[in-house]
Amino acid sequence: MQQALREARKAYKAEEVPIGAVVVKDQRIIARAWNQVETLKDATAHAEMLALTAAQNATGDWRLEGCTVYVTKEPCPMCAGALVHCRPDRVVFGLPDPAGGAAGGWINLLDSNPPLNHRCETAHGICEDECRVILQTFFREARARKKQQKLEARIRAEMEKEAAEEAAKGEE
Ligand SMILES: [Zn+2]
Repeated sequence: MQQALREARKAYKAEEVPIGAVVVKDQRIIARAWNQVETLKDATAHAEMLALTAAQNATGDWRLEGCTVYVTKEPCPMCAGALVHCRPDRVVFGLPDPAGGAAGGWINLLDSNPPLNHRCETAHGICEDECRVILQTFFREARARKKQQKLEARIRAEMEKEAAEEAAKGEE
């Protein structure tokens, strides 16, 4: 999970929602990825999706049997669906997401066989605090940045208005 957090920090530095994932097989990391939705302008570029593709490239097989996927936050429905398709043995996530998580938080697509044709063993709570704090910090900073930009825009607009008024006075 520390390695997944390292990926999350890369996302943070790139001003992406800081979520990271790694895929482990035979005690070895075979794929690592961070959320790149903004970078790639692709709403499907969640850390898990990119890590799954990288793991499949690394093994030359779409079936990730014997693999464990570590991700800092509970997978969303899209990622959970993709995980089931790729069939890793286990999915371990840090921070649960009771509102939108699809590994038991809101729904559980990883443990829905049948009707889905694979079941991933899950575990969570690993480094949960670190996984939470990096997200909280990111969103707090993003909110502060937005507030700052709004204020700056207001000040600029005021100054432009005043300059226009001055110019109009000058013409009188
Ligand atoms: Zn996702």
